[in-house]
Amino acid sequence: ARQFTRPLSDLANQFNTILSALAGAERVFDIMDEKKEEEPEGISPWKTIRGEVDFSHVSFAYDKENGQTIKDISLRARPGETVAFVGPTGAGKTTLIQLLSRFYEPGEGQITLDGVDINKASRIHLRQQMGFVLQEAFLFQGSLRENIRYGRLDATDEEVEKAAREANAHSFIMRLPDQYDTVLQQDGDGISQGQKQLISIARALLADPKILVLDEATSNVDTITEVKIQEALERLLKGRTSFVIAHRLNTIQQADQIVVLQDGSIAEKGSHEELMKQKGFYQQLQASQMEHYVS
Ligand code: ADP
Repeated sequence: ARQFTRPLSDLANQFNTILSALAGAERVFDIMDEKKEEEPEGISPWKTIRGEVDFSHVSFAYDKENGQTIKDISLRARPGETVAFVGPTGAGKTTLIQLLSRFYEPGEGQITLDGVDINKASRIHLRQQMGFVLQEAFLFQGSLRENIRYGRLDATDEEVEKAAREANAHSFIMRLPDQYDTVLQQDGDGISQGQKQLISIARALLADPKILVLDEATSNVDTITEVKIQEALERLLKGRTSFVIAHRLNTIQQADQIVVLQDGSIAEKGSHEELMKQKGFYQQLQASQMEHYVS
């Protein structure tokens, strides 16, 4: 029989599994094991969340030899805003997301959620407020219904279907012989890459978190699916404070703030229009990505 309550430990496990895609499995488990004992217990400092996230002079080094990976980053996301991180590989985009998710702690500075230092709350309470849509959709062996319901285990079938509709996944699901009962093989074999992304968006919509982390997939999907994903993502980002490691021009251009990272520092920050006017790094990046995108 299905369990209708979600023990906190399950949530932590779910989070481990999902984040392993973002951070590299071994690293995540190492860190979780290492830090387990110092995890503060107690009640969540957040009840109703507005979703304001503030990075204040955040610096971070993985190890002393290699120096600072993140250097004096300050940025504020107001409730509901989308912040897009762009910049070359190695600039620190993933590290910033990992700091926000408390896989690491800043060496200097702090990150607050609604004014509370996230490192003063337990990871579980923090991650209850967060949703993740990562490049590799984490799908497990089970039905599509179960895979979507993973976002919120007590959701009814109607709620699962509603989320699938909003994620533009319902129509493809209904065309499958077993529809929502279609059983995915391991790693989601049996549906396309794009369809996997729609399922993970449906899952996040069902979970309905106030804070969303989106690591956009770069893999090529057909044009029609691409449009569906784009539409579904727009619905998902709406009304949530979102941090996006962005690859799609569309997502970047529509972000409230674009943070251009270079070598662990903020090179430029602003809206698409503002940054285009500056004719700096972002403008060059746009030009080169545009070429890549069109060809
Ligand atoms: P991006 O996401 O922008 O590609 P990352 O945040 O992944 O950048 O990496 C930033 C820098 O930190 C890179 O130089 C990378 O090699 C380094 N780095 C990432 N993870 C680790 C780690 N676990 N230990 C040491 N260095 C790391």
